[in-house]
Amino acid sequence: MRKPVIAGNWKMYKTLSEAVDTALALKPLVANANHCEVVIAPVFTAIKIVSDRLEGSNIKVAGQDCSTQTEEGAHTGEVLASMLRDVGARYVIVGHSERRQFYSETDAEVNKKTQAGVASGLTVIVCAGETLDQREQGSAESVVSQQLNGGLSGLTASDLDRIIVAYEPVWAIGTGRTATPEQAQEMHAFIRRVFAERHSKETGEALRILYGGSVKPDNMAGLMSQPDIDGALVGGASLKAESFSGIVNYRR
Ligand code: PEP
Repeated sequence: MRKPVIAGNWKMYKTLSEAVDTALALKPLVANANHCEVVIAPVFTAIKIVSDRLEGSNIKVAGQDCSTQTEEGAHTGEVLASMLRDVGARYVIVGHSERRQFYSETDAEVNKKTQAGVASGLTVIVCAGETLDQREQGSAESVVSQQLNGGLSGLTASDLDRIIVAYEPVWAIGTGRTATPEQAQEMHAFIRRVFAERHSKETGEALRILYGGSVKPDNMAGLMSQPDIDGALVGGASLKAESFSGIVNYRR
């Protein structure tokens, strides 16, 4: 049985006090959500205080990115995966489409970040997804499999225990336009098949694949009714404790 994961990506929003307030408001609202893993990803500067204030709760904290580097050194502006762990993060998101799109992140960099995250004992949420043009040209599957091939290259079967894939069609992120449950299911089933073929049937079966792209409390039921959708990576609707808890507390 794959345990669902509901992860909130707060992107570059919230001051320190707003981050703490939202986390503390969320805590009682999701306290009984033992059917899933609950994760929030504040900005780097809020990770320590948010994870301290959530200690002992069922909410875990993620970084939104990490360095490709694996050792400390003269790399201005970078944050090591091990430093995220040091301040309380247990997950890290890598390869988000906003990083690919606005910071020209490549699959090779996603791969280094993924390896760094795994080596630091973090669970890595690796994002992949096609643009609208790519979908309309019929290349959605090849784009996603190329991103995942590149991003996960060199990982062993045991490393894959620490990997969660997030399928996030770029055209559905922050646009209010969600993939239909059937469109999402089709891609999730494809991703699972690719993992099964590349590794083993068991690896494919065990892999958790989240959907991301305008997930809200009212479209969770449709998405979670699909057999290969194992949770959600949520942007906008994770910024408020009420809407995020509505997503977390959905049980299929
Ligand atoms: C995201 O940023 O990962 C995301 C899915 O955003 P939104 O839910 O706002 O579409």
